[in-house]
Amino acid sequence: MEIEVKSQTDDEIVFIIRDAEVPFVNAIRRAAMVNVPKIAIEDVNIIRNDSAMFNEVLAHRLGLTPLVSDLDAIEGLLLPEDDGWFEHDNGIAFSLNEIGPKVVYSKDLISSDSKIKPVYDTIPIVKLKEDEELNVEAYAKVGYGKNHVKWMPTTVCAYKQYPEITFNDAVDIDYECADACPRGVLKSDKRSKKVKVFEDGELVESDDGSFLSSDCSMCKSCVRASINRAAANGAPENSYINIGYRENDFIFRIETDGSMPPKEVLLTACDKLGEKADKFISFSEKEE
Ligand code: SF4
Repeated sequence: MEIEVKSQTDDEIVFIIRDAEVPFVNAIRRAAMVNVPKIAIEDVNIIRNDSAMFNEVLAHRLGLTPLVSDLDAIEGLLLPEDDGWFEHDNGIAFSLNEIGPKVVYSKDLISSDSKIKPVYDTIPIVKLKEDEELNVEAYAKVGYGKNHVKWMPTTVCAYKQYPEITFNDAVDIDYECADACPRGVLKSDKRSKKVKVFEDGELVESDDGSFLSSDCSMCKSCVRASINRAAANGAPENSYINIGYRENDFIFRIETDGSMPPKEVLLTACDKLGEKADKFISFSEKEE
């Protein structure tokens, strides 16, 4: 198996996995979504809420506000499986005390721990009219996405098999199929008598006649255009271009809500999978 990072930013990583099986790649996807610990507001004590928003909705909004949850922030905090996790006092305390008229934003949540605070300052929470008061205590705890979506660090965690483009040399070259591509993957070149394939703006070369481009969404607009053109010209309904995929090569994308770097999500997910595999190994060794 080979892994190659294609692109990486503060909240998104795209990488290629070659020579892997679907169950393995899917196990990483699931672990990244539901087994990576993250901090979110769990308990909310509403002392006063004069706003038009119901207490339940307000608490839900606070729970879904992303908080900084990198390894440094989480270190030393109780996990759901630890004794005492349910106690208020073992959470990170936040306070929210505002008087209208104003829009209350995530930056108004005051944390008792300087490391753990809202990732973004400008998430609107509630609008207060003249003299309306909001007074809230909240407690954030570490949890897992399998228990509630607020503890899921990923907003996108998905893979697709690597799109593979081939051309049918048995039919006439259909230069115009390239015009049907909405993603700029195909460009016709009448001088070299080819329809060329591009990935990230770079020409894709091939030794075996199959071209790989992660930019292809596999929408098959090019195939339909080619078949329709052939049929309109009285030719058999045969497409010049074919779209398929490589069974064991994957493009994997993880995007986070900003609470932790995507690479950290991936590494923790792999650790969690490794822990589960170790449990199986020690169990099977005991049974022998
Ligand atoms: S399948 Fe869609 S995105 Fe891919 S090459 Fe054809 S038209 Fe372009």
